[in-house]
Amino acid sequence: MPASSSSPLSSSLPRIVILSTGGTIAGAADARSKGGYNAAAVSAQSLIAAVPGAEEIARIDFEQVAAIGSQDITDAVWLTLARRITELAARDDVDALLVTHGTDTMEETALFLHLTLATDKPVVMVGAMRPSTALSGDGPANLRAALMVATHPESRGRGVMVVLNDTIHGARDVTKTSTTQVETFQSPNLGPLGYVTPNGAVFLRPGTPRITLPLPESAPLPRVSIVHAYAGMDDLLIKAAIDAGARGLVLAGVGDGNAARTVIAALAEAAKAGVVGVRASRCPLGPVLRNIEVSDDALGLVAAGLHNPAKARVLLQVLLANGVTTPTTVQSAFDRTD
Ligand code: ASP
Repeated sequence: MPASSSSPLSSSLPRIVILSTGGTIAGAADARSKGGYNAAAVSAQSLIAAVPGAEEIARIDFEQVAAIGSQDITDAVWLTLARRITELAARDDVDALLVTHGTDTMEETALFLHLTLATDKPVVMVGAMRPSTALSGDGPANLRAALMVATHPESRGRGVMVVLNDTIHGARDVTKTSTTQVETFQSPNLGPLGYVTPNGAVFLRPGTPRITLPLPESAPLPRVSIVHAYAGMDDLLIKAAIDAGARGLVLAGVGDGNAARTVIAALAEAAKAGVVGVRASRCPLGPVLRNIEVSDDALGLVAAGLHNPAKARVLLQVLLANGVTTPTTVQSAFDRTD
């Protein structure tokens, strides 16, 4: 769909294209229950119209890429989004990109784009916890904050950032931590990149060099299954995932990516057959380290480092799609924090 301009403003302002995908930020109340609403019911133009002073921050164009709750996001949507952002970022008259997105899977889309977009232009993802029709909806304030970040000179070269609740997060670490609260997004291991204050965006640290991987050519991406560990677990789900054609397995393990002996043995068996096994953790904090209680070197397994299970899955899918399959090269990618 071609971009459409919101208003004819001073050409000295930066130009931002807002790509909308749906989510609660574009949600409108529905009568089915007191708190019920339909995601993706409102256009990005209407959302920006509710942001006082937006026209003084940037010239804004709009494109609708999808109109879904992010629980329905697919790798096909990721590819469409990444291709379109790449095209737009290559244009001299586009300074930054903003993506409106549901919060449920925002961290996964953010990491996919962060890994595959080579541009230095700022790409900022934004959503909301309350629909646009709610009392004190957080969408307009989040959009304004995202515009402030997208137009900030220090935003260049940082890859994809997530902005909600006046906080700027990096794509690698950000995660949704609360089902209901507006401060849901946190960067539990690395901390936020910065904040948005009444005076504008403030970064706490400089950007770090970032390595990107080629954008996979087509969907579906290689199948990678997440298997959640629990007390008394057996290898049933690992075997089912392999039978379903998984090329990679992410264990949401206990503690340091641990699981019962039979589960680790099944992962090691799969690794011998070429199915890449990554040990992540169901703990919300801390890295998964190699060779602590599980002998990764001997078993051919990979430790997820700071990647939570959902992010480990995205990273492994992108690696597999690029033909990266040996445990040592996969491990190097998992050791990155940029
Ligand atoms: N289910 C919604 C979504 O992720 C929730 C939200 O946007 O906050 O699209």
